[in-house]
Amino acid sequence: MFGAFERDWLARPLPTRADLLPAPGRLDVPPEVEGLPVPADRAPAEFPAGEAEGLRRLRKFLSGPVARYHRERDRLDLDSTSGLSPYLRFGIVSPRLAAAAAAALLSDPEAGAGARAWLRQLIWRDFYQARLYHPLHKAEAAFRRGAGPPGRSGREAFRAWCEGRTGSPLVDAAMRQLLTTGWMPNRARLVAASFLVRFLLVDWGHGEGWFRRFLVDGELAVNLGNWQWVAGIGEDRSPFIRLFDPVRQGRRFNPAGAYIRRWCPELAGLDSRWVHAPWEAESPPASYPRPMVDPAWAGGRPWNIAPG
Ligand SMILES: Cc1cc2nc3c(=O)[nH]c(=O)nc-3n(C[C@H](O)[C@H](O)[C@H](O)COP(=O)(O)OP(=O)(O)OC[C@H]3O[C@@H](n4cnc5c(N)ncnc54)[C@H](O)[C@@H]3O)c2cc1C
Repeated sequence: MFGAFERDWLARPLPTRADLLPAPGRLDVPPEVEGLPVPADRAPAEFPAGEAEGLRRLRKFLSGPVARYHRERDRLDLDSTSGLSPYLRFGIVSPRLAAAAAAALLSDPEAGAGARAWLRQLIWRDFYQARLYHPLHKAEAAFRRGAGPPGRSGREAFRAWCEGRTGSPLVDAAMRQLLTTGWMPNRARLVAASFLVRFLLVDWGHGEGWFRRFLVDGELAVNLGNWQWVAGIGEDRSPFIRLFDPVRQGRRFNPAGAYIRRWCPELAGLDSRWVHAPWEAESPPASYPRPMVDPAWAGGRPWNIAPG
């Protein structure tokens, strides 16, 4: 379904800066709307608040890193994405402005391919917003019933996943980063979500709620859409079961293991050969948990598995 949405999106006139509406001089709030207290929490240090910071990130990303985006966006050891999600999520930076800036680069010989790949992610964002708005969709309910894996509450497994102590290094690194900073790269989100649903067989809704609570960009439409995509119960069909093997994903997108070493200091001293699968080392670090599931287990399920 996303393919059709994207084709339709791109067939319309692409946004330009001329389409941007000026900021309103004032906003009239209806008197019956009660104000809420301003939260006392400070913005995470990694994401300073404010439009100036959001626009600075957009300019910085589009003036260089965007040219490598299509090749490097999944690398966990490189800082190669825009880091704009919290600013888009809270309306601090307009998605139309971001799309117009990307569209202006599409025919650039150096940045064009990266800008196209980045624009696609903005279209995914629009897709999930549009689908939640559509009356056919019921928030937080599976679009395709019965298509996902058997969900269970698995309280202990869920707690270990939340706290980053499953014994699967890439998953633990991702979950610890989430608790410390409120953020994770997209590839880490995919691997962690897939691990909860496919390896631990915990109901996807528990993970969706945890992500939404702790992600600094956490929001219903995009978070829900991605969790349903991973669990295979959204409207975006796939002939395969989507399964991301943390060991293979780590070796591919974090080859030297820097991301794991940063968030799992117990594994910092391990050679790159073992850092993705410490149980294979001759003497695995005693302070790091043993794997909760046999790493070969999910791969051995009678599922039609997508390469990943
Ligand atoms: C399980 C799971 C849960 C997620 N939950 C959220 C969430 O609550 N809020 C959120 O903003 N993103 C969510 N994402 C999407 C994605 O991981 C983040 O938007 C991205 O990592 C933010 O980093 P960035 O701004 O550097 O992205 P970039 O790669 O620079 O992309 C630019 C923008 O495109 C949009 N975008 C990128 N990837 C996606 C995607 N897969 N789906 C929809 N829009 C996308 C975001 O607005 C992002 O800021 C989730 C992904 C997964 C797999």
